[in-house]
Amino acid sequence: NTTRVAILFGGRSAEHDVSRASAANIFRSLDASRYAVTLIGITPEGRWVLADAVNARTAQALTVPPDGPQIVLLPAGQGRALVLGDGAAAPRELTFDVIFPVLHGPNGEDGTMQGALELADVAYVGARVMGSAAAMDKDVAKRLLRDAGLPIVPFVTMTAAAPVSYEDAVHAVGCSELFIKPANLGSSVGISKARTPQEFAAACDLALRFDGKILIERCISPVREIECAVLEHADGEVKASELGEIVPASSHGFYSYAAKYTDASGASLHVPAQVEPGLAQRIRKMATEVFGVLCCESLARVDFFVHGEEVYVNEVNTLPGFTNISMYPKMWEATGLPQPALMDALIAHALARHARLR
Ligand code: ATP
Ligand code: MG
Ligand code: MG
Ligand code: MG
Repeated sequence: NTTRVAILFGGRSAEHDVSRASAANIFRSLDASRYAVTLIGITPEGRWVLADAVNARTAQALTVPPDGPQIVLLPAGQGRALVLGDGAAAPRELTFDVIFPVLHGPNGEDGTMQGALELADVAYVGARVMGSAAAMDKDVAKRLLRDAGLPIVPFVTMTAAAPVSYEDAVHAVGCSELFIKPANLGSSVGISKARTPQEFAAACDLALRFDGKILIERCISPVREIECAVLEHADGEVKASELGEIVPASSHGFYSYAAKYTDASGASLHVPAQVEPGLAQRIRKMATEVFGVLCCESLARVDFFVHGEEVYVNEVNTLPGFTNISMYPKMWEATGLPQPALMDALIAHALARHARLR
């Protein structure tokens, strides 16, 4: 009685490489006696190709073969897909019970892929269209959280067509030190800090290379970065994990892309985090509230900034990193749910939801 799972990885976002590493880790933690896994790579151009599952067991990151056989998911196909031949061979059919999109950022985590999977009528892991889109867009997410009375970092939104000056931004967020970030992205790509009009202009130019809409936020300093993993079980129960803390190396200034992925000593991770029990309880409760407000389902990692007694919701990742150093699986591990059991829970949720909503 095996469940046929397709892992989608790679993809068109700036987080392509992070996804390849996340997918390798997820692939390894799926119990091979219970799951028959097909690996589907998505090239940076958006082509779906069959990837090698035989040699992937030991890989640090899965490989997207650019010239691999193309895969087409059939609309309303209940998980049916065609593997197109190379011209000589006839197309052959594959069927999946569930799809695990291990994709981060735009075209994967933002509702677009989720819309395609809805149209394909297949069970899949993660939030649906609304939750994915609402959480990915930091501007929309913050407005929804603010409306729900949840604490967020003061911010202003800007586009190339409606620029904001350094002086106006400083006035709006009440601080001369600013964080500038693309509205829709992740892994800290395109994010920088600015303390002068010159730094601000460079930071905005950088962020605008990745998104037409960017956020300018008050820099919270000093800051403790505390995260909470949220998991929705097949029966609808939503659970919050033990907290984790990230301490970026001071050489990086903040938890940048390099501190996350390229420098092995870029940050130290502490799970469970040393947080006073009352505060920890408050944060875990807030994490499940955030999950509900943003219409999340299945899984999300809710990230907080703690500054003295103050707690801010920073952002939510609906397909959080699953690399070897990633916090989401670590936090569940520390809560008594090892990664293979976490995989079982995510797949059970996907199957139950699909059966319920059909
Ligand atoms: P992820 O990889 O978690 O999806 P992301 O690219 O969506 O990250 P953020 O989490 O918003 O981006 O920011 C990345 C990092 O930048 C944070 O972990 C933190 O180190 C720093 N940072 C972002 N905003 C602020 C802020 N307002 N004040 C202080 N530090 C900040
Ligand atoms: Mg994020
Ligand atoms: Mg992210
Ligand atoms: Mg983050």
